[in-house]
Amino acid sequence: MIAMHAMDSGPTSKPRSRPTVALMYHALSGVDERGQDPHYTLSEEGFRQHLKQIGLREGMGTSARDWLGSDKGIGTIITFDDGHLSNHRIALPALIEHGMRADFFINPATVGCPGFVNWSDLREMSASGMSIQSHGYDHQFLTDLSAKRLREALYAARLEIEDRVGLPVNLLAPPGGRVPENLETIAQECGYTRVFASHPGRLRANDDRTILPRLAVTANCDTQTVSRWLSGKRAALFRLQLRYHALAAVKRALGNALYERTRARILHDHGSSA
Ligand SMILES: [Zn+2]
Repeated sequence: MIAMHAMDSGPTSKPRSRPTVALMYHALSGVDERGQDPHYTLSEEGFRQHLKQIGLREGMGTSARDWLGSDKGIGTIITFDDGHLSNHRIALPALIEHGMRADFFINPATVGCPGFVNWSDLREMSASGMSIQSHGYDHQFLTDLSAKRLREALYAARLEIEDRVGLPVNLLAPPGGRVPENLETIAQECGYTRVFASHPGRLRANDDRTILPRLAVTANCDTQTVSRWLSGKRAALFRLQLRYHALAAVKRALGNALYERTRARILHDHGSSA
C-alpha cells in the first residue's frame, strides 16, 4: 500500500503543472529539549536558511491548507509535526518574518505538556495565518489501532482542535508516517479530506490523491539538499525514495514496537522518515 503511493500519479489528461514538494519539520533546537527527537531537530539558523532558499527558488512557502485551497499549486508546502514548543517560539516568528505560512499537525493529548505548545500558543499561531491540523489524538501509531479505535481517535482529535482553536480541521498527518490500509476510508468518514504521510514524492496543482507525500527534514538537512528537493526534479528524490522503501521494509519485518526499540541504531547515518 505504501509503495503504491511512492511514485507520482498526477492526472495525465491535462497539461501537467510544475511539481512542488511538502517539507515535514519537527522541533527546532534551543527552546526545550523535552519532546524533541534529535534525529529530526534542526537549528533555528538551519530553518531560517531553508526559508530563505524557499523564498529565492519558489517565491513563497505556504501551508498545505492554503495550497490545496488554491488551484494554482504555487509555492513550497511547509509542515510541522508534533506541536513542539519551538514551533511557537522559533518557527512562528521566522515564518512571519518571511511572510510565509505552514501547517502544524498536533496531538490534543500532548498540548500543554512540558516541551509542547499550549492551546493559547496554537490560537495565536492560527490568528497569524498558520494552519493547525491533526496528528491523531495522541502519538500512537495508527497501524496499532483497531478500526474502531482509529475512528474514535481521528474523530476526537478533529473535534477537539476545532473546538479549541476555532477553525475547521480537515488535514491529517499520521504519527510516524504509519498508514494503515483502511486509513483513506476512515479518515474521510471522520471529516478529513487529505492525509499528509511521510513517503517521499512530489505534488502537483489539482492533485486528487487523498494520501500525499512529504519530505522529512532531518537534523543534517542542509540548504543544498533542500535546494535540490525544491528543484522538483524526480532524480532529486530518488535517494530519499530508496531509503524510505528500505526502512519501510525493516519496519514491516520488525513490527512497530521492535522497530522503535532499535530505531536509534537503524537510523545511524541514515536520514529518513520514521
Ligand atoms: Zn509525530
